[in-house]
Amino acid sequence: MAADVNPEVQRHVLMVAGLVQGVGFRPHVFRLATKFQLHGFVRNEIGGVRIEVQGLPARLQEFAVELVSVAPPLAKIAAVQNATVPLAADKDFRILPSEGSLMAEDFVSPDVATCDECLAEMFDPTNRRHRYAFINCTNCGPRLTIIDGVPYDRARTTMANFEMCPACRAEYENPADRRFHAEPIACPVCGPQLALLDGQGMLVEINDPLRWAVHDLKAGRIGALKGLGGFHLMCDARNASAVAHLRQRKQRDERPFALMVADLAAAQVLCEIGTEEERTLCSPQRPIVLLRRRAGVHVADVVAPGNPSLGLVLPYTPLHHLLLRELDGVPLVMTSGNRSDTPIVYRDHELVNQLGGIADFFLTHNRPIHSRCEDSVMRTVGKRLLPLRRSRGYAPTPIQLPVSCPCPLLALGGQQKNTFALGRGRHAMLSHHLGDLDDAEAYRGFQEAVAGFERLYDFRPEMLVHDLHPAYASTEYARQRILVEGLPGFAVQHHHAHVASCLAENGLNERVIGVAFDGTGYGPDGAVWGGEFLIADCQSFERAAHLRYVPMPGGEAAIRAPWRMALAHLRDAGEAFDNLCKDIPPADVAVLQRMMANQINSPLTSSCGRLFDAVAALLGVRRVVSYEGQAAIEMEWLAATEGLNGEYPFTYDPGGQPLVIDTRPVIAAVVRDLTNGVSAANIARRFHSTIAAIIVKVCCALRERCGLRTVALSGGVFMNVLLLDEAVTRLTAAGFKVLQHSLVPPNDGGLCLGQLAVAAAQERSV
Ligand code: ZN
Ligand code: ZN
Ligand code: FE
Repeated sequence: MAADVNPEVQRHVLMVAGLVQGVGFRPHVFRLATKFQLHGFVRNEIGGVRIEVQGLPARLQEFAVELVSVAPPLAKIAAVQNATVPLAADKDFRILPSEGSLMAEDFVSPDVATCDECLAEMFDPTNRRHRYAFINCTNCGPRLTIIDGVPYDRARTTMANFEMCPACRAEYENPADRRFHAEPIACPVCGPQLALLDGQGMLVEINDPLRWAVHDLKAGRIGALKGLGGFHLMCDARNASAVAHLRQRKQRDERPFALMVADLAAAQVLCEIGTEEERTLCSPQRPIVLLRRRAGVHVADVVAPGNPSLGLVLPYTPLHHLLLRELDGVPLVMTSGNRSDTPIVYRDHELVNQLGGIADFFLTHNRPIHSRCEDSVMRTVGKRLLPLRRSRGYAPTPIQLPVSCPCPLLALGGQQKNTFALGRGRHAMLSHHLGDLDDAEAYRGFQEAVAGFERLYDFRPEMLVHDLHPAYASTEYARQRILVEGLPGFAVQHHHAHVASCLAENGLNERVIGVAFDGTGYGPDGAVWGGEFLIADCQSFERAAHLRYVPMPGGEAAIRAPWRMALAHLRDAGEAFDNLCKDIPPADVAVLQRMMANQINSPLTSSCGRLFDAVAALLGVRRVVSYEGQAAIEMEWLAATEGLNGEYPFTYDPGGQPLVIDTRPVIAAVVRDLTNGVSAANIARRFHSTIAAIIVKVCCALRERCGLRTVALSGGVFMNVLLLDEAVTRLTAAGFKVLQHSLVPPNDGGLCLGQLAVAAAQERSV
């Protein structure tokens, strides 16, 4: 365009910040520039995209509007800066190579569920990718799970060994195509292929592995399916014997299985789905969503025994869509491919060794998985999202820190539900869920994942941030590196990290009343904390109040045996309750009584989670559990069957520093109700209200003392929606602003974010 032809012509530069790389943004810009007959270029730069466009002012204006209004679905535009610059001599519009070394956080994307356009093509018999299980485009497909280095291009993904055919190459190179620079682009001619293995791992020579799998699933057999971040085990969810076999072969405790159904309509048949739940279920992240189960729906009881909820997930890979479509309405159990508590299997060569004997057949393929990644699990509370596990689809999308990291920080998280985080500037990149590090294989997975993230982000930590607990595997890992690499370490108290994580995801660093209620966390006084009120900001905290200490007889053993906590609380309250001991051998009771009396292996705890356990055991909900928190979870189900019915008395010493909340009257009242034949559901509900009342009363007392009006709720206890709801309602009514979690879980899965925030804030201040 020659400037002297039309004196009105202008040139604008637009700097677009946000998530705009690796999401099909440049082809979007190219299409718009072509549409509005503009010349110039677009280029990825550090922190965003630079666009220079030249043309008539009206066209430039329309361009700027549509740039944002019809942006690709995965793009998140944070800001657009616009300026007029001198004209240049471009003859067309071009996509230019990237400038400078891009920051990995700009383009390492989570995996994205198959988009509608790809789905339509896959089910179109005339399309060249009809029924092709690896269809994807710049708007969808595998990302984190196939990348093994920077910068993000095909050579550094597990697609490296697939050479593009001419047709795919043409799409890949055409800026106007939806597959322009879609690194995992593939088609039946050049891309990965499905394969079916029998239970012994022998290849079954057939030309349609999918149909075979569908047939076997309908016949009640158990299959292993290669997904995005690992193998899943699957079977017909309506077939009780198939599900029971799966549970037994997998040595799965009583935890519920998640189900995959074909689409939203199929999900609505099984569960009641609200607006926010629907949005989450159908989102490109495609998490498992916990939903209220409809009565009388035909799903085998063993899927989720006694559970009023079902965890549902919609298909998120083309293979899932094909499978569920051809299964014609059969809901599938879709659970991590592993044995009991070990991490999900994701390497082909481990497949038969690990899952042989569980699966009757394997539906797999030849696109390797680079990173193991488990499904995310979400719940909603009203209009809010409550993450229970943030993993596939969400990780490693950066979360903004309220304070900037003074140097690259690596925060290693906790022991249970581990995630770790890299901190650079204001960005926190949280890993996917790595599970409980007690398991040796899980710990290896953790080490590999840390190394993998450092490579991916070209990241060299200058400080290692860890929990105060000396025996956490993540702490031990930090200590090793501190020693070997001579890096400084930084220990963060567990509940301070919980509160800071809630502050951080709410974008705040101000002093608040932090309520950190969880199972266990190491206290600087050597006790097991877990019912804490902290006056805290990211930088520091003061323990302002806590639940009264009781012994935890047998230490960790009390977690698996809630009756031990019941005994400890009874003893503390001076209550005898012989009913509790009916199913427990008297000798065991005597041993524990002696342990507590002599203070042997009985650390003191202020844990709210353990208090829940104690009451659940008293009510007969569970005296022993197969996973942590099971008793409390089942007591929540029970309580939810009752309406509000008052609360139990409790006291605290108003002058105490810290305030100690005396739970003895609560236990005494529960015992009295039990003796009087009050129903367990009734007591459970009243107990929930009691905890909410404690939160509000103590927060009011602390507001009197320090004038703070904002409360942050964090810790695993706040996965209890009944409690969370009541606490928020009552706190709000009492005039508090309440901060909650909606980006990271309130449980230890969110700990690493808080650790980063604390370390960044403290290091800034020195
Ligand atoms: Zn797509
Ligand atoms: Zn191809
Ligand atoms: Fe915790």
